[in-house]
Amino acid sequence: MSKTTPAKNDSEIDTNWLSVEQARERMCDSVAIIHGFERVAIRDGLNRILAEDVISPINVPPYDNSAMDGYAVQATDLPDIGEVSLKVSGTSFAGIPFNGKVNTGEAIRIMTGAMLPKGTDTVIMQEQVQQKDDLITISAGHKQGQNVRYIGEDIKQDGAALHTGKRISPAELGLLASLGVPEVTVKRKCRVAFFSTGDELRAVGEPLEEGQIYDSNRYTLYGMLTRLGVELIDMGVIPDDRSKIENAFTTAASLADAVITSGGVSVGEADYVKETLMKLGEINFWKISMKPGKPLAFGKVNNAVFIGLPGNPVSVMATFYQFALPALRRMMGQEDINPTIFKVPCKSILKKRPGRTDFQRGILSIDKSGQLEVDGTGMQGSHILSGMSKANCFIILPAESGNAEAGTLVNVQPFEGLI
Ligand code: AMP
Ligand code: MG
Repeated sequence: MSKTTPAKNDSEIDTNWLSVEQARERMCDSVAIIHGFERVAIRDGLNRILAEDVISPINVPPYDNSAMDGYAVQATDLPDIGEVSLKVSGTSFAGIPFNGKVNTGEAIRIMTGAMLPKGTDTVIMQEQVQQKDDLITISAGHKQGQNVRYIGEDIKQDGAALHTGKRISPAELGLLASLGVPEVTVKRKCRVAFFSTGDELRAVGEPLEEGQIYDSNRYTLYGMLTRLGVELIDMGVIPDDRSKIENAFTTAASLADAVITSGGVSVGEADYVKETLMKLGEINFWKISMKPGKPLAFGKVNNAVFIGLPGNPVSVMATFYQFALPALRRMMGQEDINPTIFKVPCKSILKKRPGRTDFQRGILSIDKSGQLEVDGTGMQGSHILSGMSKANCFIILPAESGNAEAGTLVNVQPFEGLI
């Protein structure tokens, strides 16, 4: 928006519109968690949702061990003042424990991860001792139990190491392996059918004629759904044709747990999209107080959840992330579905009219002094997909607010976390 007109109330605003939070809540509350589950090898569990608690068959660590390369000693041998000399009477390696007896006045050389020899309770870092032949000298100032990693301090045997509803990330793969667990029970994959609607749409690879555009929404949806880890049913482009639309909805609903479409839900669309949906299921056509992405349809077609996203490419992504993603996560049985949002000062003025919640496309970066800051990507039209590509976050500006002046703290929702 390059115009510098003063902020004024959005004249189209209607108090019956749903807020972003209301719409999200309604959607998440009305979807049911899918029932099926399967046993998979832990690696195949990546990005899947646990369908039951994982009870640990062992303690992790399985034995008291050293956090450092150094010397295992008995704390009672350590001096309160001055220093003491102890005799090094053996070595405990990781994987090759010292099995002998440790007497008063003795120390055992120990490596990181090696089992703590019976009779010792404390490890002194090798840098903190003086060694001469088989004697080490240790000064005062050490604490009993230092540098020891205790049995079960990470995970307790017979305790729940992971809970139902946890999404399995690389950390969980490692954690499951550390328990020696070869398989996990995960929710079956959610099946999502999706298609684009519109007579103007051409598929990639076809020549464009006058008045036509390429169907990009099916590609952003493919990307977002693939990352989410659902089973995809790509149904292509469906023209604005009553029987084809009806067919597509019926087929999609018979194949999938959820049907996601783009386009055809705004006012002024050929009525049969609405008509078809009304005939086939219970659909609400919502106006949501957000920008981009005001129109949204939500409900059921036969037994499938139906989410009708708007047509504009940026609106599709914004509404997918704000509504479809949490709703699908809920269906998949994921417990934690809240997005990461934090406050960052904006670098320059962000233009906005009071009325709807804005999801502006932003670029988070680090300024010269090492502080996070965010800036808009430029043109914010709902058709500007290049802005979405430049962006690494949404800047969320509350419905009632006007312009955000440079330097004000604004809410930011990053696109990426660690993988
Ligand atoms: P609609 O909601 O169907 O009126 O679409 C709104 C706008 O989004 C129009 O400019 C459409 O041409 C455009 N649009 C709809 N579907 C797609 C799509 N799959 N890919 C790219 N643009 C689309
Ligand atoms: Mg259309």
